[in-house]
Amino acid sequence: MSDVRNVIIIGSGPAGYTAALYTARASLKPLVFEGAVTAGGALMNTTEVENFPGFRDGIMGPDLMDNMRGQAERFGAELVADDIVSVDLTGEIKTVTDTAGTVHRAKAVIVATGSQHRKLGLPNEDALSGRGVSWCATCDGFFFKDQDIAVVGGGDTAIEEATFLSRFAKSVTVVHRRDALRASKAMQDRAFADPKIRFAWDSEVAVIHGEQKLSGLTLRNTKTGETSELPVTGLFIAVGHDPRTELFKDQLELDDEGYLRVEAPSTRTNVTGVFGAGDVVDHTYRQAITAAGTGCSAALDAERFLAALS
Ligand code: FAD
Repeated sequence: MSDVRNVIIIGSGPAGYTAALYTARASLKPLVFEGAVTAGGALMNTTEVENFPGFRDGIMGPDLMDNMRGQAERFGAELVADDIVSVDLTGEIKTVTDTAGTVHRAKAVIVATGSQHRKLGLPNEDALSGRGVSWCATCDGFFFKDQDIAVVGGGDTAIEEATFLSRFAKSVTVVHRRDALRASKAMQDRAFADPKIRFAWDSEVAVIHGEQKLSGLTLRNTKTGETSELPVTGLFIAVGHDPRTELFKDQLELDDEGYLRVEAPSTRTNVTGVFGAGDVVDHTYRQAITAAGTGCSAALDAERFLAALS
């Protein structure tokens, strides 16, 4: 059994690394579990990030995360590229267990495990991520000026993204499996009135084409099985996100969509000494800078909580 740490951070995206940086600079010697496969978080799977402040000419996602990691490490954060497989957060001393079965103990825990965008499950989808395939219109819309693009999905996010993208794109085709949208009436009305937005009803993406860059899609009609070609250079997938809260579901309060519930504007969860930050909490903004911002808040909340204990 290890010594009792001040704080353990689970997750290594912008939220986890920022929490690590702040708690390290506060001399709390944080122990950070970065994840076994995806250390660095969602931005490890993208190319250029143009909207993280401080980088006038943009920065590649993996470079940004490497900088954040190095900055946290410089101030003494201990980083471990492993997954936490179980937790007990209920007592005064919290425990988290890694894949080797080692139990780590701490007075405070920051959960920053992010969320996973749902995929279509098609070959080429990952290979062309950042090369025409995207999960974030706010992040990547600007790259698609005057281009023909497609958005997959029929809910609020998909229609909001389509409307946003129509500012830049030449055309936006919404590909939806059904013949009616799930998005709110107001959002639908705005999309239907937009001359740049078209709809491929009863359709799903069957094939994503392209070598180095996306070159087009084959669509399949969900009723007739007929296929058709859609020549687009951008594909925005907006079929939902799953917050990574499976580990915590019996111990921390989650909202109806499975996101960690916090006492906003603080990052306190319903369990004393446990804080939540980043996309595991946020289903509204989902940006690197907002994740980093709440990572900072969680670190400050944890710091104050620990100070009050002594
Ligand atoms: P994440 O970055 O998802 O990190 C969570 C981390 O937790 C992961 O490293 C994971 O390994 C770890 N983890 C999960 N479970 C465990 C566990 N049990 N044990 C240990 N570790 C665990 N935003 C922008 O602002 N600009 C952009 O240009 C931009 N582009 C994007 C491009 C793509 C392809 C994607 C997918 C997202 C993009 N985003 C962008 C959104 C941005 O990446 C996210 O909002 C941000 O990464 C969320 O940060 P986070 O720290 O909350 O979570």
